[in-house]
Amino acid sequence: MVQHAPSLALAAGLVAGPQLRNMGTLGGNVCLDTRCTYYNQSRFWRKALGYCLKKDGTVCHVTKVGKKCVAAHSADTPPVLMTLGARLVLQGTDGRQETAVDEFFVSDGIWNTRRRRDQILTEIRIPVSNGARRSAYKKLRQRNAIDFPLLSVAVSAELSGDGRVSTIQGVVSALGSRPKVLTGWEEIAAGNPLDQGVITALAERAETQCRPLENIIVDPEWRRAMVPVYVERALQDLVRN
Ligand SMILES: Cc1cc2nc3c(=O)[nH]c(=O)nc-3n(C[C@H](O)[C@H](O)[C@H](O)COP(=O)(O)OP(=O)(O)OC[C@H]3O[C@@H](n4cnc5c(N)ncnc54)[C@H](O)[C@@H]3O)c2cc1C
Ligand code: SF4
Repeated sequence: MVQHAPSLALAAGLVAGPQLRNMGTLGGNVCLDTRCTYYNQSRFWRKALGYCLKKDGTVCHVTKVGKKCVAAHSADTPPVLMTLGARLVLQGTDGRQETAVDEFFVSDGIWNTRRRRDQILTEIRIPVSNGARRSAYKKLRQRNAIDFPLLSVAVSAELSGDGRVSTIQGVVSALGSRPKVLTGWEEIAAGNPLDQGVITALAERAETQCRPLENIIVDPEWRRAMVPVYVERALQDLVRN
């Protein structure tokens, strides 16, 4: 994995802490539930607040007025799998179904995937690179030893022999209920060398597309300010990789 998909090896190595990584699976990480400040609490705490849309309640304490749960997608490996063009094989009572990781997640924090409850994930298929693909992953968290991401950034690109960008993808996560594919990157970078000017333009473009919410107990404005910083660092790693 380190040779063919270094960003995936890195992201998997940043999941939780050593004990959890020793027992956990990639499939379990892809199917991990969403998280929220108002949900990952004791029943007593949640009851005192009148519960919420994700379970037993009728309001969302994050959006106040919204009718949809916006709990944060918090798994490290899916954004990376998206940038690598990975596909998932699901096995259910009615047979086998294959889907791109890109299309697997939906923006509903109550159940944020297209996986039916009778289906289990049995295979993750990652296209092998022809050698031109580079990838990187950056994760912002409170304690490097164990925490879920407050923000995560996965990037991948194919560079031609002279270092010009042929294709490029970026995915940001831990903001809303599904990882967010960054748009407009090819227009900025394709055909150009991935120099500091292009990297800054991509980071600025990413910031305009990200709106962190109060679903994580860290100031959303600060998390938003970290978007261009982490996108830039991920792209710099990609160039070095
Ligand atoms: C303290 C703590 C910190 C953590 N920090 C992080 C973190 O920083 N980053 C991160 O990404 N994760 C984090 N996690 C989550 C967790 O460690 C990982 O998601 C884990 O690697 C997956 O473990 P697992 O394979 O045992 O799946 P489980 O935890 O057993 O399963 C996760 C969910 O997926 C379902 N599931 C599991 N396998 C399949 C399958 N094959 N098909 C269908 N559904 C399936 C389960 O029913 C469950 O709903 C943390 C967890 C804890 C407790
Ligand atoms: S986002 Fe809203 S509905 Fe979802 S878990 Fe948090 S408070 Fe509950």
